[in-house]
Amino acid sequence: MNLLEERIQRDGVVKEGGVLKVDSFLNHQMDIALFRWMAEEWKRRFAGVPVSKILTIEASGIGIAAIAGECFSVPVVFAKKAKSINLDGGMYTAEVESFTHKNKNQILVSKKFLAPEDQVLILDDFLANGCALQGLISVVTAAGATVAGIGIAIEKGFQPGGQVIRSLGYRLESLAIVEEMDPARGSIRFRPQPQG
Ligand code: 5GP
Repeated sequence: MNLLEERIQRDGVVKEGGVLKVDSFLNHQMDIALFRWMAEEWKRRFAGVPVSKILTIEASGIGIAAIAGECFSVPVVFAKKAKSINLDGGMYTAEVESFTHKNKNQILVSKKFLAPEDQVLILDDFLANGCALQGLISVVTAAGATVAGIGIAIEKGFQPGGQVIRSLGYRLESLAIVEEMDPARGSIRFRPQPQG
């Protein structure tokens, strides 16, 4: 049973412009029991993959990543978004265009918190065009660390990010993949996934 898909069907709201609102359980009010299910599902899917650190991006990734960090018993780092460029040389940076706000942010991660020996699991709430993930991947790469895998809560399969990231050779595990959604009828169709 995929608890995330069930919850999206029940409480997700389909908006115009390919936007799915999940703020009643994921990125405003947070259902921690659901986050725990998600964390355990990533743990199961990434069984046998060495992970030394989880990396996400503020703000919506933090809650999910925190619970996953407890489940994987590793530290969690979140990339900060900054409007102004005020760098002291102690930061890895990348530029990320926001899908929801259409503006560009610099993302910053302190060099103190990523080391070349790190095996990094990148987590985020949504995958749309893949800009956020590409920024996080470039930060990991700049640190000389390894991307152990990528976990996404909700991939919008009708937008290009998933294909782009998979074609770069990364192992991407999305817990729910929305194949199609219709704002007029409020309907959502998921891509079938292998059962665990
Ligand atoms: P991308 O960088 O892949 O284009 O977009 C990913 C980021 O945009 C995620 O971190 C997420 O915060 C936001 N996002 C993208 N699509 C949606 C959506 O349909 N609903 C919500 N709530 N956020 C989204």
